[in-house]
Amino acid sequence: LTKERGKGDFYIFTPDMLEKASKSLRLQHDLYQALSNNEFELFYQPKVNAKSEKICGAEALIRWNHPTLGMLYPDDFIYLAEESGLIVRIGEWVYQEACKQVKKWKEAGKEIFKVSINFSTLQFLQKDLVGRIASFLDESGIEGKWLEVEITESILIQNDQELVDKIEGLKKLGVQIALDDFGKGYSSLDYLRKFNFSTLKLDKDFIKDIHTNRESEDITSFIIALGKRLNINIVAEGVECEEQAQKLKKLECNELQGFLFSKPVSVSEFEKLL
Ligand code: C2E
Ligand code: MG
Ligand code: MG
Ligand code: MG
Repeated sequence: LTKERGKGDFYIFTPDMLEKASKSLRLQHDLYQALSNNEFELFYQPKVNAKSEKICGAEALIRWNHPTLGMLYPDDFIYLAEESGLIVRIGEWVYQEACKQVKKWKEAGKEIFKVSINFSTLQFLQKDLVGRIASFLDESGIEGKWLEVEITESILIQNDQELVDKIEGLKKLGVQIALDDFGKGYSSLDYLRKFNFSTLKLDKDFIKDIHTNRESEDITSFIIALGKRLNINIVAEGVECEEQAQKLKKLECNELQGFLFSKPVSVSEFEKLL
């Protein structure tokens, strides 16, 4: 990358880019200790049943309590974890932590519901992914049905037999598979045919103007109808206002998730919502 500044001056990096690059390097370095220092935390965001508005699920979203920079969000560090390959170990921590949480809630006699986790593409390349999840579930005595894995279509683009086998393997454990951010990117309908998802999550870009933009409403309505036909649960993400919620209820969307109900919160905050 070069940037021309005035006559004959070429900068490989602008000061701004240098600062960004050195911040990334530092985070990359710190990331190696984050797991052993126990710096990751899962926040939970409720999904509510559209009819009753009762909590029917939760999405686990990773946060990094950085010792000096404070709380960091996935967009700040997941790409770094992917570059270094650490994402596989972090991903393992995520599903184990989520399962342990389900178990705690169950043991505490709370009404329980499934917990969804997010998987990145690289994690899906892990050779023995299904076997490792299977033995973890087995050891900890947690049924697969309480776990849902949210994947995005960037994973599906690989479109090979190994991937199909992994998804089928997870389903055999009872783990549910959701297609996240649907409607964003290419969203091939062929994926719906091939993978038989239990849930589709409508991307927040559609929900954003569903109450003000006829096209967004029509597309959403079409996807919900398609979901019904295929017996797939439809979740709308990014629901921020009452008008959006009303519209989605009218379209018979199954579940709603978004700041209108709650932002993602710590375990103790989440328990107050229950
Ligand atoms: P996602 O899975 O699509 O998660 C939804 C994101 O939207 C979350 O951001 C959530 O906080 C945010 N959100 C929820 N409700 C609303 C709303 O009403 N309005 C708006 N504007 N945003 C809302 P977050 O937590 O920053 O996560 C961003 C992305 O990072 C996630 O997108 C997911 O792809 C990824 N991610 C999160 N946790 C993990 C993880 O444990 N592992 C991996 N591999 N990726 C993760
Ligand atoms: Mg998600
Ligand atoms: Mg999403
Ligand atoms: Mg997303």
